[in-house]
Amino acid sequence: MTSGDCPLCALDAAEALWANDQCFVISAEIAGVGTICRVVWREHIREMSALDAAARGAFMDVVFGVEAVLRTLARPAKINLASLGNLVPHLHWHVIPRYLDDAHFPDAIWAPARREAPARSLKDAVLRAALEAGLGG
Ligand SMILES: [Zn+2]
Repeated sequence: MTSGDCPLCALDAAEALWANDQCFVISAEIAGVGTICRVVWREHIREMSALDAAARGAFMDVVFGVEAVLRTLARPAKINLASLGNLVPHLHWHVIPRYLDDAHFPDAIWAPARREAPARSLKDAVLRAALEAGLGG
């Protein structure tokens, strides 16, 4: 996969929930889990070790900032941070609020479901405002 056929390169950062010059934040609804955030590096880069230390630090500051926002907003039992990129090898972090009764807990959200889960969702407008407050506009 190159930047030409990459779904993350195709996203418009201007439509993200939050963005700076290096990365942006989007949300996704995961069945059985609820709303998660993804922090996406703007440039099509495959691995964290390809970034210099300053860029890595700046990226992770945003990831941890999103984690803090979701802790306050979603009151999860746990936050999972995941960087896989096996299907879309473009740097992005999943910031995933987890609940004792979500469909997969305590497994990863990509594992087979263990149970039915209550519906959970965060509205984009609420997330956007919380990200602006937490990360700066
Ligand atoms: Zn890409």
